[in-house]
Amino acid sequence: MSRPVPKPGILDIAPYTPGKSGAGVSGRVFKLSANETPLGPSPKAIQAYKNAADTLEDYPEGTSRVLREAIGRAFGLDPDRIICGAGSDEILNFLAHTYLGVGDEAIHTTHGFLVYPIATMANGAINVIAAEKNFTADVDTILKAVTPRTKLMWLANPNNPTGTYIPFDEVKRLRAELPPHVLLVLDAAYSEYVSKNDYESGIEMVATTDNTVMTRTFSKIHGLASLRVGWMYGPANIVDEVNRIRGPFNVSTPAMLAAVAALEDSAHQDKSRTHTEKWRSWLTEEIGKLGLTVTPSVANFVLIHFPTTAGKTADDADAFLTQRGLILRALKNYKLPHALRMTVGTEEANKLVVAALADFMGHK
Ligand SMILES: *Cc1c(COP(=O)(O)O)cnc(C)c1O
Repeated sequence: MSRPVPKPGILDIAPYTPGKSGAGVSGRVFKLSANETPLGPSPKAIQAYKNAADTLEDYPEGTSRVLREAIGRAFGLDPDRIICGAGSDEILNFLAHTYLGVGDEAIHTTHGFLVYPIATMANGAINVIAAEKNFTADVDTILKAVTPRTKLMWLANPNNPTGTYIPFDEVKRLRAELPPHVLLVLDAAYSEYVSKNDYESGIEMVATTDNTVMTRTFSKIHGLASLRVGWMYGPANIVDEVNRIRGPFNVSTPAMLAAVAALEDSAHQDKSRTHTEKWRSWLTEEIGKLGLTVTPSVANFVLIHFPTTAGKTADDADAFLTQRGLILRALKNYKLPHALRMTVGTEEANKLVVAALADFMGHK
């Protein structure tokens, strides 16, 4: 060998391609492509972040204790069963790194989050895709995909980019019928936005089984995506196992302290939830009136389906909207070439998108 060669599996990974962040046109740009909150973080989180600037020479406290305790208080959880990470992406990678090896299989659903196959294949494991029904995870199909080599199941609930969810009963049935040695990862990145009686984020599932973990993030409702903070709640043995591979200072002090302040500002979270619910309904209805199908969403974004007729495709719409400074997420790499995902934005941004789509579809 004349040069370093990556491990098997690495070159099979399609690199993660984020949504566009700029329009390449002059004028104002509304970025509605990454499910960031239009309200920004809590002002208290910004202040906590600034205060942390006084001690940048010090390493962070290595176990993210203050943040684990704040999460414990907010959700009634034992801080010893929480791990914090540099975004929940880091935690998803910890889980794959801890439980997946060459020849193992990990399952996700058709339009599952792209970090899952990357984390799976980075560990030499095989990515198995279970078909969705109506853009929604289907427990029977997932169970049929299980083989003796299955070690892990990734389930985003609600899912990104579809915005759909499965009820607690179905999660329970999935857990009950998956073999006990299969780790079920419930990715609850958007759980704060769900207002359905039959939904459960994962806390009860984790508390009542010894083979399920739930991951959460500060990137969405808390508006701290740039700081990279996420967390996991899991059974004691899994927390112990994952902590063995966690870097000693994986969450920075400014991120940790901003996250604590964000968590304690429940009024800000309520405001964000109320804004999202109102505009998610409005967008679903108004975009529907234009003759486009919107998949019913419980998260802070909507999935818009476009016709395949020339001039009216998702690609055409993407180009049209981009010209007006409206940046949505194209989803070819999510196997949704005929759809765009739109993050619920400010009132102004939402109205501009609906007006632009009306022009695009030829409505006056
Ligand atoms: C945004 C998102 C996350 C959160 O990622 P972070 O690394 O915490 O920013 C996790 N899972 C899904 C499905 C997401 O859409």
